[in-house]
Amino acid sequence: MTDTGRPREREDHRGARRSRHRRRRIVLSELALTITFTLAVGLGLAQRGALDSTAVFLAGWALNLVVLALCCTLPWSRISGRWVILVPLADFVAIGLARAAAGDALSGVGLLAAFPVVWIAASRVRTAATVAITVVAALAIIWFPLVAQPGPVTVDTLIDPILLPIMLTGLAWFVSELTKADRRRQEALSASQAALRESVEAGRARERLLGTVLDTVSVGVLAVDAHGDDILMNARQREGHAAAAPPGNDDPSEAELLIFGEDRVTPIPPERRPVLRAISGEGLDGEQVWVGTGRSQRALGISSRSMHDDDGGFAGTVVSFNDVTALLQALHAKDDFLSNVSHEFRTPLTSILGYLELSLERGESLPDGVAGYLQVARRNALRLERLVEDLLAINAGTFEVHPVPTDVGRILAEAASSSLLRATRAGIRLENHAPAGLPAVADPLRLAQAVDNLLSNAVKYNRRGGSITLDAALGGDGLIVRVEDTGIGIEAEELHQVFDRFFRSSSVRSSTVQGVGLGLLITKSIVSEHGGSITVTSEPGVGTCFSMLLPQPTR
Ligand code: ADP
Repeated sequence: MTDTGRPREREDHRGARRSRHRRRRIVLSELALTITFTLAVGLGLAQRGALDSTAVFLAGWALNLVVLALCCTLPWSRISGRWVILVPLADFVAIGLARAAAGDALSGVGLLAAFPVVWIAASRVRTAATVAITVVAALAIIWFPLVAQPGPVTVDTLIDPILLPIMLTGLAWFVSELTKADRRRQEALSASQAALRESVEAGRARERLLGTVLDTVSVGVLAVDAHGDDILMNARQREGHAAAAPPGNDDPSEAELLIFGEDRVTPIPPERRPVLRAISGEGLDGEQVWVGTGRSQRALGISSRSMHDDDGGFAGTVVSFNDVTALLQALHAKDDFLSNVSHEFRTPLTSILGYLELSLERGESLPDGVAGYLQVARRNALRLERLVEDLLAINAGTFEVHPVPTDVGRILAEAASSSLLRATRAGIRLENHAPAGLPAVADPLRLAQAVDNLLSNAVKYNRRGGSITLDAALGGDGLIVRVEDTGIGIEAEELHQVFDRFFRSSSVRSSTVQGVGLGLLITKSIVSEHGGSITVTSEPGVGTCFSMLLPQPTR
């Protein structure tokens, strides 16, 4: 209620002020004439003999006094602006009476008409109308006495006092034009003031909106200018800043904040701290740090973008702080779980494999068919053992390789022949184009594992009637091994994730093709340990090509 009433109160207040201002203007304008008129009356009375008719002269003055009294008392706020013009018109009449009664000695009293002329010219009346009114009123003032007096009216007597109307008309025109120009300036000024007010209002509204948005989001936001001084910090960031403060220091500088690296204990030197680097214009993308100590220690992902002014110059930086503590804790919990489970699997698996080997050694003494069953059980136990080894190796983060001079041609031929059966069963053609003897330096077991992974994927993610090509060559950069297939391919937006832990493409996740998303990560680790690199190109529905490059020692 009070809120909606406030604008109306303000409007009423403004209306009352405008009305007071209007009355003041009218009264002061009229008062200027009345004072001058009164002095002229004094002058006229002082030389009583010079006046043609004292009574008429005083009647003119009295009329002016009445007009002044009306100006002071009329309720101008309720009277339309158009009627105000009656005031100077009434003044013309008062001045006309005074001039008619003044006689030759005081004929200059007609110059008082300049007051109403200026009044009309300065009002909103058009120039042409102002000039017309002035001409009519001035002629009436000079000719009325001639017509009213006894005696002949000749052209000469009419022309004689014509200077007064000419002067008044010139004055009317001049003041009217001046006022018009001034009013246009005023209007332009008011329009630009209104536009300025509007844009200030809009700016304030945007600022309020931004403030609310920034305090609602769960990300800390800090903006600094080109000199590194804070220009904005949202509520979340204020909390984060406080959490990073050393105990007992309520207003730490950036260099004093407790910021640690990935291990949570090694302080990051001030010049390497993400915020300071961001402030100096470096763009960050989710750089991770730990802030604070003890139980309240938090992990933050820090990103930043530079701001630029209209000329493209550096204008400051916006830095965002995303609390990723819960995510990291969940990832660590998952890694710990996998590692623990893998360890727990290893001992019983070793035992199972041992007893299977022992049983198989009995050979012919086994009942019919049992040896076959045991072979299947051993194969699957070996697969499980490999998976457990892979999980442990990945968690440990290392894949030891021992590169030695080896015949890569033979390794690739063996890998191709062991995948051939699976490929043929799936209706896929597998061709090995690698040369038979290809000497290179590599870890034979690990290289075989990497090629196995790629060939196994090329079979799994292929279609009946498709093909796989295995190729290898020694080039200037080292040994290149390529596995190309005409399978289902990988979407462009997923391609950069294929070497990520547990990644499986969206189309594969919904299919029956089995996998855990570790093969390519292991392959990449093997290649990296050789000091090499692996790349992939793919087109959905057309096929995929993996290419491994293993640098060779120079001879
Ligand atoms: P897995 O095969 O056990 O799922 P990988 O790490 O070997 O795990 O592969 C990761 C994912 O990459 C696969 O799930 C599949 O979506 C995609 N991928 C790998 N190789 C190919 C390929 N040759 N063609 C199409 N997609 C592939």
